[in-house]
Amino acid sequence: MNRISYKPGYISLHRSGELRKRGEVLWEMLKECRLCPRECRVDRIAGETGTCKATSKLRVASFSPHFGEERPLVGVGGSGTIFLSHCNLGCVFCQNWDISHKGAGTECKIEDMAAMMLQLQEQGCSNINVVTPTHFSPHVILALDLAVSQGLRIPLVYNTSGWERKEILEILDGIVDIYLADFKYMDKLHAATYSNDAADYPDVTRSALIEMNRQVGVARPEKNGIIYKGLMIRHLVMPNNVSGSMAAMEWIAGHLPLETYVNIMIQYRPAYRAHLYPEIDGYVSRDFYKEVVTGARILGLTNLDVDT
Ligand code: SF4
Repeated sequence: MNRISYKPGYISLHRSGELRKRGEVLWEMLKECRLCPRECRVDRIAGETGTCKATSKLRVASFSPHFGEERPLVGVGGSGTIFLSHCNLGCVFCQNWDISHKGAGTECKIEDMAAMMLQLQEQGCSNINVVTPTHFSPHVILALDLAVSQGLRIPLVYNTSGWERKEILEILDGIVDIYLADFKYMDKLHAATYSNDAADYPDVTRSALIEMNRQVGVARPEKNGIIYKGLMIRHLVMPNNVSGSMAAMEWIAGHLPLETYVNIMIQYRPAYRAHLYPEIDGYVSRDFYKEVVTGARILGLTNLDVDT
């Protein structure tokens, strides 16, 4: 399969008018915002803000071909990342804290985002990779609709914390080609402590991963090494096993196909406010990382992306 022969699902949804309709459904939710599990119910169109601090005005921190993502997303031309400002989860160890916590970025119109998508395609990117899209999902879908009308046809990667409401994911069904989802914690207390009281992160994210898998299935690279569709999970191993790594692998092996793509990441470094929490103010030992990888293999997971 090559870029020309893969046809993202959003194209037929655009032709039928369904893509725009779904964008408008999401937009309506801004009036009493329930776009994420926080369900702040603020009127973002009137300029109110909830936990994520985003109004209805789109903010983009940057957009460019990115070569640091998973290899099957990068290809030759890079992954076409669009970094959205603000974040609904708000982890204390965030490496992009200036964008997520401080809202660094520039106010844009939906038309501007559509133009970014088209430019990234023009530059030869393998996909459009919207990073931290949850609180701006209406804008992403409406921009996508506009960009498709002008020729966009590369896969949409929804690069999320994993903490997604099922109701919203159902609206995205058929639109998103690749879910690139974090699976950060298995323990409610850890989730609440390090991610702004999001104690329901483990439960909500487990349901979300099941729904994402139902929609897009297993992510398998095609002959050219590129992934065009599927669920890709990122699990960041954290110091003192704060992310419950083995429990996370056991859950994946027990509830999702054994071929599920799992990137087991070792690159944790204490950023932002992590220094205030001694248990995460450090690095992950390579021995522990290897234990997690070996454990995942013993569980039968076959589609692992690991740091060798
Ligand atoms: S997207 Fe923002 S305002 Fe909306 S529910 Fe989530 S945190 Fe609250």
